[in-house]
Amino acid sequence: MAIDTAPLRKILQQEHKRGYDNAAVFGGLDRFIHNWHAKTLNALTDGKLRARFEKLGLAATDYAALSPMARQEWAAGLIAALDKLEAPAAKDTQSRKKRSSTPASSAIVKPTTGSELELPVTAASGISQNLAAKFNKMGVHTIRDLLYFFPNRHLDYSQRKRISELTEGEEETVIANVWQAQETFLGGRRSTEAIVGDETGNMRVVWFNNPYLARQLNTNNRVILSGRVSMFKGRPVFQSPEWELVGDEASIHTGRLVPLYPLTQGLRPRQVRKIMKGVIDRWAKAVTEFLPADILKRRNLPVLTEAILQAHFPDDAAASKLARIRLAFDELFLLQLGVLAKKRDWQLSQPGNPFTSQPDLLVKFINSLPFSLTSAQQRVLKELKDDLAKSQPMSRLLQGDVGSGKTVVATAALLTAVANGFQGALMSPTEVLAEQHFATLCQLLGGSGNKEEIDDNITAFTGLLARPVKVALLIGNTRLKSKRQLREGIADGSIDIAIGTHALIQKEVEFRRLGLAVIDEQHRFGVSQRFALRQKGFNPHVLVMTATPIPRTLALTLYGDLDLSVISELPPGRQVIKTKWLKPEQRPSAYAFIEKQVREGHQAFIICPLVEESEAIQARAAVAEYEHLARDVFPDLKLGLVHGRQKSTEKEKTMRSFRAGELDILVATAVVEVGIDVPNATVMLVESADRFGLSQLHQFRGRVGRGRDQSYCMLLAESPSQIGQERLDIIEKTQDGFQLAEADLKLRGPGEFFGTRQSGLPDLKMARLTDVAILELARQEASRLFEHDPQLSRPEHRAVAAEMARVWATEAGEWS
Ligand code: ADP
Ligand code: MG
Repeated sequence: MAIDTAPLRKILQQEHKRGYDNAAVFGGLDRFIHNWHAKTLNALTDGKLRARFEKLGLAATDYAALSPMARQEWAAGLIAALDKLEAPAAKDTQSRKKRSSTPASSAIVKPTTGSELELPVTAASGISQNLAAKFNKMGVHTIRDLLYFFPNRHLDYSQRKRISELTEGEEETVIANVWQAQETFLGGRRSTEAIVGDETGNMRVVWFNNPYLARQLNTNNRVILSGRVSMFKGRPVFQSPEWELVGDEASIHTGRLVPLYPLTQGLRPRQVRKIMKGVIDRWAKAVTEFLPADILKRRNLPVLTEAILQAHFPDDAAASKLARIRLAFDELFLLQLGVLAKKRDWQLSQPGNPFTSQPDLLVKFINSLPFSLTSAQQRVLKELKDDLAKSQPMSRLLQGDVGSGKTVVATAALLTAVANGFQGALMSPTEVLAEQHFATLCQLLGGSGNKEEIDDNITAFTGLLARPVKVALLIGNTRLKSKRQLREGIADGSIDIAIGTHALIQKEVEFRRLGLAVIDEQHRFGVSQRFALRQKGFNPHVLVMTATPIPRTLALTLYGDLDLSVISELPPGRQVIKTKWLKPEQRPSAYAFIEKQVREGHQAFIICPLVEESEAIQARAAVAEYEHLARDVFPDLKLGLVHGRQKSTEKEKTMRSFRAGELDILVATAVVEVGIDVPNATVMLVESADRFGLSQLHQFRGRVGRGRDQSYCMLLAESPSQIGQERLDIIEKTQDGFQLAEADLKLRGPGEFFGTRQSGLPDLKMARLTDVAILELARQEASRLFEHDPQLSRPEHRAVAAEMARVWATEAGEWS
């Protein structure tokens, strides 16, 4: 899927040497460019890349018409655009590479491309453009992606039996002769029925809804049949079993451990299996082993090619398990190595600014609060103070359940920075949250000093320090004039604490002396973005806060570049949110309850069902639900809607008016912003609650119960699966976010649990972080390798270095 821009670049370079005379190529540049453009476009299968490529506007190039000077400018622009196209959004990683001279950073170099594994999926036999689009939809673009497109699980069809030995209810395989196969009607549908036999007896086999098979099964063909055995009048029957003719080719659908691949609409299991077998036979051997031999040996891991092979079409259960261990090890090992390299880079790049502690100020601040800190808050505050006093910049992850009081602690740290003559920044993922933080900070600081509102967006506090402490809110809807003022205040240092979205560090806001950056809701703020902070010419202390409780093992792996603090208790007196799992027939009473709460002056959330399809479909479903609720269920109440397809201004507007009490009910998809604080909201209804993960449900639930009034969370589920029921049971009984997170991890994989994609880290396909043993192995080996050869510069580590580059570079592209 990569675009080969080399030919074009070469021409541009020559043209530069010639002084832009439009003669670098015979016939002029326009013809060359138009041809190259058309050819390249033709070969591009990836729709996203195509769109970006087309944006270059090469089809409309009229180079001949430009003056030499304009040509030069145009060429420079084009080269920059090509760079960007080839390294999507990896700007920060690259500029860091250039600037940083630390040894570890060289561990992450630009990936080598051009391997046959990077060919588009259409290079595989059996994959047409049309099928390729379906694979693309599942994130599979290249041959390499196909090799790493692992089955969800295997069906064990390896138990070969004779017909007389078949057991009802078991998954079994027979090899038999076809005596007769014919089209027939079953339940009114055209189907196939066959009689087959071996030396021990005969049996009936039916394929519902598939009349075509009758023509493929000829009398006296030998077939392998695999499926679940049922009994009819004491005789074994196969209903729609997998089948294959006995022939020269190795069986892939029957008689073995048969892979079940994730499918998207329009892909059929047999077809995918066949394609995959072809791909693996042809390309698995092209994958280069990257693990150093000593690790393979020490840990008894199979070589990569073998692992890939066995992960798809295993010889037996033991080989399949070993393959998974190897592949999971790879993911965790590379993850850990990358994280270690980043941490090293981070710490070595520039010394930070040690703050002297401010005991008097902090005591004054803490005493002014209307509550006393919990012991967990005190402990974490001490950890922060110790970090801030060091010349190595702090990089700490602060975990604490929803409402555990992270903001207070962060405020104390920000004050310390200010007292040391530095500025602080507090960033959150959305503007509504930034506004909320601004209000909270003003309230917290207002207790200890005099508050003076200078402007809508700036408040000054006197009495804390010898000079006033100025806190400012910088968000999109600030008036342009005051926005400029705020920027100036940040740049000249007269603003001490700036609150905004992540754009605070990403756009052209220049701090005079940024000493501490606090980032709220870290799982939208990846590793690479944290690095962006370092690019601002400072090396501020960084505190990342999250309300997603991450179990420790997982945190250590995913966030190995951060130290960990946990606020493990909630402030006393926090209410238990009454949580109830309702049966579908209780829906009317749920609606009645919401109406009653609203009549009593409260507000409600209704969370729309999770539709496991595109965001567009999800949005449509949400709109439909909203209209239904507004028209048929709550015609007299004021409802608002937020979903992922809205413009962020629209979303924020609705959220704001909900917060202001202008809406009674907020209907929302899963986008409903984490952290939004509406104390008057006392009831939440979650539709299809069984489809959400436990941690997500817990996050939702944390949106209510933020005021004094008893709050409620109602969970509706139509026909929950076994796992769904377990989840609902657990969430009904458990209020502790960490316990829920642990339970969640057990119920599903970490990728799903944490959405590693969002975190700016490589995706985990094979690793389940419940495999603590593999995790430990990977951590040990990664640390060991990193200690011996942090630059991965030794010849025997070249392959690891290349693999690191590949894995981490892809990821860098994820977060723009
Ligand atoms: P978080 O950001 O961790 O979700 P906040 O910092 O927003 O939590 O705190 C939630 C609420 O609890 C706020 O209203 C805050 O003032 C209050 N709070 C914080 N710490 C304490 C405490 N030790 N005792 C009582 N209330 C507290
Ligand atoms: Mg918070």
